[in-house]
Amino acid sequence: MVKETGYYDLLGVSPGASAEHIKKAYRKLALKYHPDKNPNEGDKFKLISQAYEVLSDQKKRDIYDHGGEQAIKEGGLGGGGFSSPMDIFNMFFGGGSPMQSERRGKRKNVVHQLSVTLEEMYNGSTRKLGLQKNVICEKCEGYGGKKGALEKCSNCKGRGVQIQVQQIGPGMIQQIQSMCHDCQGQGERFNSKDRCKNCNGHKVERKKKVLEVHIEKGMKDGQKIIFHGEGDQEPGLEPGDVIIVLDQKEHPIYQRQGDNLIMKMEIKLVEALCGFKKTICTLDDRTLIVSSPPGKVVKPSDIKFVQKEGMPLHRDPYEKGQLIIQFVVEFPENYWLPEHMLPKLEALLPARDELMTSDDMEEVDLCDIDCNSQQNTYSGRAYEEDECPRAGVQCHTQ
Ligand SMILES: [Zn+2]
Ligand SMILES: [Zn+2]
Repeated sequence: MVKETGYYDLLGVSPGASAEHIKKAYRKLALKYHPDKNPNEGDKFKLISQAYEVLSDQKKRDIYDHGGEQAIKEGGLGGGGFSSPMDIFNMFFGGGSPMQSERRGKRKNVVHQLSVTLEEMYNGSTRKLGLQKNVICEKCEGYGGKKGALEKCSNCKGRGVQIQVQQIGPGMIQQIQSMCHDCQGQGERFNSKDRCKNCNGHKVERKKKVLEVHIEKGMKDGQKIIFHGEGDQEPGLEPGDVIIVLDQKEHPIYQRQGDNLIMKMEIKLVEALCGFKKTICTLDDRTLIVSSPPGKVVKPSDIKFVQKEGMPLHRDPYEKGQLIIQFVVEFPENYWLPEHMLPKLEALLPARDELMTSDDMEEVDLCDIDCNSQQNTYSGRAYEEDECPRAGVQCHTQ
């Protein structure tokens, strides 16, 4: 039992979530709330990043589970406080730290998420992705205007900054220094007749670029595909990268675990007892037949697997993982077996245990539970495990 769930709630996961699950939750939220995409949600971006920083580190997660946020703030972070949300983001998405990029004279990377189906990851696919990006203006080749016509900015006198003087009290003035708007801090500018008409002196223009994203067989959820140098361009800087992060959509039948595929197969009671033959549709549209011999009993939640019908391995697609099948046995609903046939059935099954009774025992009635009304009362998060001794009474309607 954890002390608080605040960090888990921020990421939208349960306190029992696996490391993998937490990573995925952070990935989705961080891309959604990144200031590039959602400039008004800076606080949310920061909170998500703090929650992830704690929950992604098993040691910090233990401290949080036992002592809550208080314990984390009192030293669970090793004295250093939280990292900057951007650093966490860049570390996660492999962009390197922004400091590093700046030193190398490189524009920052752009991260996009691409939603793909499990079928695409199984068969491979090519997707076209249209992106808007800044490219160096073709007309002026990134110069911004007529060559040699650059003049010292008259507003800031070439300093690139402007100073505002404010009176803040009797005899007290304050100087505020800010970037010069006329020249964008460059200190030089073109007058309006020499300015490039195409980019209006901005040196770059917004253009649509279509990227072809090759989803290779066996690629995984969260895998990155990097387009080097396809980020925004800026004169004098090396363009950053475009990083595409694959996001696998849920599949109605298959769940993926590493290179294995997992599916549930419903069989009827008669099939569980007397054998069956069933078909499975694969992700590349083949039909497999699986069977269980007559007389072999399959128990509910028995697990079996089919060799090499899982996901293809990335970069080695002729090798495949396993297809794991979990059996769900469907018992007949409101069904009475004909009583006179029961001895025959009973003779086929393993013998029951003999029951010893005595006169001091009480015989009571077994009642049916009305599933619908029970669900309203006993499901949901309103009851903690220790408050509700009957939480174990659960109905499964299908
Ligand atoms: Zn131009
Ligand atoms: Zn200026």
